[in-house]
Amino acid sequence: MSPQKIIPQYNLEKIKFATDGPTFERAVSLYESGKVTHFKEITVGFSAIVLGTKPYEVFVSFRHYDHGYCECYLGKRNILCKHMVAVAIYAVMQGKPLSNKDKQFVDKPTFSDKLGELSEKELSEIKKSITKALRYIKPYMGPSRVWFKYQNSLSEGCRRLSAIVSSLPVSKQTAELLVNLLLRLDKKLCIGGVDDSDGTVGGFIYEVAEILEKYTKVDPSCIKAFKKLRDKGTCFGWEEPLIEIYNKDTYT
Ligand SMILES: [Zn+2]
Repeated sequence: MSPQKIIPQYNLEKIKFATDGPTFERAVSLYESGKVTHFKEITVGFSAIVLGTKPYEVFVSFRHYDHGYCECYLGKRNILCKHMVAVAIYAVMQGKPLSNKDKQFVDKPTFSDKLGELSEKELSEIKKSITKALRYIKPYMGPSRVWFKYQNSLSEGCRRLSAIVSSLPVSKQTAELLVNLLLRLDKKLCIGGVDDSDGTVGGFIYEVAEILEKYTKVDPSCIKAFKKLRDKGTCFGWEEPLIEIYNKDTYT
């Protein structure tokens, strides 16, 4: 009888969004250059020898890609290292090549210069993925020892949202979608108990507000989406430049 297959409880998307950019990129390069060797499924996860500065014995849990150990300097200090991430990538890809899209790491929202609206089906998919990403931006309840994990969750949420925002075409429809997203995030910060002391979520809000300004330059009908902002007071005034654009367009 062959032993039962160990299936990782995470996928590449999870690994990518929950890891910081430099670590993810180094892990991809280890994976692609065949530095993950002697990969084995064991009862509770995956083990491998990763060829770094020297060969490191690495173990990664099948439940959480960031639980495990590595013999390197970081791994010994319980910090997620590129070797562990490389083994996790191996576990989900099974040695198969990564596509460019797989490797593409979006750390910040970017402005796509394609114009157009989403179909009804696309819009509803995007709304679902926004709601899913927003779950990572949650109130802080824990004791200080889980603080680091909590900050990671906020970063993961913002990376997921960045990938969504960067994929959107420009139109009044998507401008409205972004305005609503910013209002939801603002509410989480103002009254939702999200502890953004690192400024991760706040920074993301400002970046998206800047993208909205760019929207108006390629499609002035996007300005109408800012009307909603006029009557809302927000936490820290990110909406002011957008309201100014709206007022200028409407009253001059
Ligand atoms: Zn390591």
